Amino acid sequence: MEPFTFTCPCCGEEITGLPDVGYDAPAYYPGAPEEAETQQATLTSDLCTIAGEDFFIRALCLVPIQGSDQEFGWGVWVSLSKENFQRYSESYGDPDQSKIGPMFGWFSNRLPGYPDTLSLQTTVVPQDNNQRPLVYINEVHQDHPLFAEQREGMPQDKLAKLYAEHLCHRSGSA
Ligand SMILES: [Zn+2]
Repeated sequence: MEPFTFTCPCCGEEITGLPDVGYDAPAYYPGAPEEAETQQATLTSDLCTIAGEDFFIRALCLVPIQGSDQEFGWGVWVSLSKENFQRYSESYGDPDQSKIGPMFGWFSNRLPGYPDTLSLQTTVVPQDNNQRPLVYINEVHQDHPLFAEQREGMPQDKLAKLYAEHLCHRSGSA
Protein backbone atom coordinates (compact mmCIF):
# COMPACT_ATOMS: atom_id res chain seq x y z
CA MET A 1 0.00 0.00 0.00
CA GLU A 2 1.40 3.39 -1.03
CA PRO A 3 1.84 5.61 2.00
CA PHE A 4 -0.56 8.53 1.93
CA THR A 5 1.23 11.84 1.49
CA PHE A 6 0.04 15.41 1.38
CA THR A 7 1.51 18.88 1.57
CA CYS A 8 0.81 21.07 4.57
CA PRO A 9 -0.80 24.26 3.20
CA CYS A 10 0.76 26.48 5.87
CA CYS A 11 4.44 25.54 5.63
CA GLY A 12 4.70 23.44 2.49
CA GLU A 13 6.06 20.48 4.41
CA GLU A 14 5.45 17.09 2.81
CA ILE A 15 3.62 14.89 5.33
CA THR A 16 3.70 11.11 5.02
CA GLY A 17 0.99 9.04 6.66
CA LEU A 18 -2.28 10.08 8.21
CA PRO A 19 -2.24 12.07 11.41
CA ASP A 20 -4.29 10.88 14.37
CA VAL A 21 -6.35 13.42 16.22
CA GLY A 22 -7.60 12.28 19.57
CA TYR A 23 -9.14 13.62 22.74
CA ASP A 24 -7.93 12.55 26.18
CA ALA A 25 -11.36 13.07 27.70
CA PRO A 26 -14.99 13.79 26.79
CA ALA A 27 -15.88 17.48 26.43
CA TYR A 28 -17.90 17.20 29.64
CA TYR A 29 -14.91 16.22 31.75
CA PRO A 30 -13.96 19.01 34.19
CA GLY A 31 -10.77 20.80 33.25
CA ALA A 32 -9.61 21.53 36.79
CA PRO A 33 -8.53 18.64 39.05
CA GLU A 34 -10.40 20.08 42.07
CA GLU A 35 -13.56 20.22 40.00
CA ALA A 36 -13.06 16.64 38.83
CA GLU A 37 -12.82 15.60 42.45
CA THR A 38 -15.95 17.52 43.43
CA GLN A 39 -17.85 15.91 40.57
CA GLN A 40 -16.45 12.46 41.38
CA ALA A 41 -15.12 12.17 37.86
CA THR A 42 -12.87 9.26 36.91
CA LEU A 43 -10.80 8.99 33.76
CA THR A 44 -8.55 6.35 32.22
CA SER A 45 -7.29 6.11 28.65
CA ASP A 46 -10.54 4.39 27.61
CA LEU A 47 -13.18 4.83 30.31
CA CYS A 48 -14.68 7.84 32.04
CA THR A 49 -17.46 8.38 34.55
CA ILE A 50 -18.86 11.60 35.97
CA ALA A 51 -20.78 11.71 39.24
CA GLY A 52 -21.83 8.07 38.84
CA GLU A 53 -24.37 9.32 36.30
CA ASP A 54 -22.57 9.82 33.01
CA PHE A 55 -20.57 7.08 31.36
CA PHE A 56 -18.16 7.47 28.48
CA ILE A 57 -15.84 5.27 26.46
CA ARG A 58 -13.10 6.12 24.02
CA ALA A 59 -13.86 5.16 20.43
CA LEU A 60 -12.59 5.75 16.93
CA CYS A 61 -14.55 7.69 14.32
CA LEU A 62 -13.17 6.73 10.93
CA VAL A 63 -13.50 8.95 7.88
CA PRO A 64 -12.20 7.64 4.55
CA ILE A 65 -10.00 9.96 2.51
CA GLN A 66 -11.29 10.59 -1.00
CA GLY A 67 -9.02 9.28 -3.74
CA SER A 68 -7.13 7.09 -1.29
CA ASP A 69 -7.59 3.68 0.28
CA GLN A 70 -6.94 5.07 3.76
CA GLU A 71 -9.03 6.37 6.57
CA PHE A 72 -8.53 9.26 8.94
CA GLY A 73 -9.32 8.47 12.57
CA TRP A 74 -10.79 10.84 15.12
CA GLY A 75 -10.16 9.49 18.62
CA VAL A 76 -13.35 10.54 20.36
CA TRP A 77 -15.53 9.76 23.36
CA VAL A 78 -19.09 8.58 23.30
CA SER A 79 -21.55 8.41 26.16
CA LEU A 80 -23.28 5.09 26.85
CA SER A 81 -26.16 4.07 29.06
CA LYS A 82 -25.09 2.75 32.46
CA GLU A 83 -26.04 -0.80 31.43
CA ASN A 84 -24.02 -0.68 28.22
CA PHE A 85 -21.09 0.94 29.99
CA GLN A 86 -21.10 -1.94 32.48
CA ARG A 87 -21.23 -4.52 29.69
CA TYR A 88 -18.41 -2.73 27.91
CA SER A 89 -16.28 -2.40 31.07
CA GLU A 90 -16.79 -6.03 32.03
CA SER A 91 -15.72 -7.25 28.60
CA TYR A 92 -12.91 -4.69 28.28
CA GLY A 93 -9.75 -6.58 27.38
CA ASP A 94 -11.63 -9.59 25.97
CA PRO A 95 -10.11 -10.40 22.57
CA ASP A 96 -13.63 -11.13 21.25
CA GLN A 97 -15.36 -8.04 22.56
CA SER A 98 -17.41 -7.61 19.37
CA LYS A 99 -19.70 -10.27 20.86
CA ILE A 100 -21.43 -7.64 23.01
CA GLY A 101 -22.77 -6.08 19.81
CA PRO A 102 -23.48 -2.50 18.67
CA MET A 103 -24.71 0.04 21.20
CA PHE A 104 -26.28 3.48 21.10
CA GLY A 105 -23.95 6.35 22.04
CA TRP A 106 -23.94 10.16 22.20
CA PHE A 107 -20.97 11.83 20.52
CA SER A 108 -19.10 13.60 23.33
CA ASN A 109 -16.45 15.78 21.71
CA ARG A 110 -16.55 18.88 19.50
CA LEU A 111 -14.60 18.28 16.32
CA PRO A 112 -13.02 21.28 14.60
CA GLY A 113 -14.11 22.03 11.04
CA TYR A 114 -17.73 20.83 11.43
CA PRO A 115 -21.01 22.20 12.70
CA ASP A 116 -21.32 21.18 16.36
CA THR A 117 -20.73 17.46 16.81
CA LEU A 118 -21.55 17.32 20.52
CA SER A 119 -24.56 15.09 21.28
CA LEU A 120 -24.85 13.62 17.79
CA GLN A 121 -26.51 10.21 17.96
CA THR A 122 -24.20 7.36 17.05
CA THR A 123 -23.83 3.63 16.85
CA VAL A 124 -20.83 2.24 18.71
CA VAL A 125 -19.46 -1.06 17.45
CA PRO A 126 -17.09 -2.96 19.78
CA GLN A 127 -14.18 -4.66 18.00
CA ASP A 128 -12.10 -7.77 18.54
CA ASN A 129 -8.37 -8.01 19.35
CA ASN A 130 -8.40 -5.09 21.79
CA GLN A 131 -9.07 -2.50 19.11
CA ARG A 132 -11.05 0.56 20.13
CA PRO A 133 -14.74 0.46 19.19
CA LEU A 134 -15.78 2.19 15.97
CA VAL A 135 -18.37 4.93 16.05
CA TYR A 136 -20.78 5.79 13.23
CA ILE A 137 -22.99 8.87 13.08
CA ASN A 138 -26.62 7.76 12.91
CA GLU A 139 -28.78 8.39 9.87
CA VAL A 140 -31.00 10.79 11.80
CA HIS A 141 -28.11 13.24 11.21
CA GLN A 142 -27.93 12.67 7.46
CA ASP A 143 -27.63 16.42 6.89
CA HIS A 144 -24.54 16.67 9.10
CA PRO A 145 -21.26 16.76 7.13
CA LEU A 146 -19.65 14.18 9.43
CA PHE A 147 -22.41 11.71 8.53
CA ALA A 148 -21.80 12.36 4.84
CA GLU A 149 -18.01 12.15 5.16
CA GLN A 150 -18.16 8.77 6.87
CA ARG A 151 -19.87 7.48 3.74
CA GLU A 152 -18.44 9.59 0.94
CA GLY A 153 -15.04 10.42 2.37
CA MET A 154 -13.24 13.62 3.29
CA PRO A 155 -11.67 15.63 0.46
CA GLN A 156 -7.88 15.59 0.61
CA ASP A 157 -7.70 19.38 0.78
CA LYS A 158 -9.91 19.38 3.86
CA LEU A 159 -7.57 16.95 5.56
CA ALA A 160 -4.61 19.16 4.65
CA LYS A 161 -6.42 22.23 6.02
CA LEU A 162 -7.25 20.39 9.25
CA TYR A 163 -3.63 19.42 9.57
CA ALA A 164 -2.40 22.96 9.00
CA GLU A 165 -4.82 24.41 11.53
CA HIS A 166 -4.48 21.90 14.32
CA LEU A 167 -1.44 19.69 13.95
CA CYS A 168 1.29 21.50 12.08
CA HIS A 169 4.18 22.56 14.31
CA ARG A 170 3.52 26.11 13.11
CA SER A 171 -0.09 26.06 14.27
CA GLY A 172 1.05 26.39 17.86
CA SER A 173 -1.12 23.57 19.22
CA ALA A 174 1.20 20.73 18.22
ZN1 LIG B 1 2.47 23.42 8.16
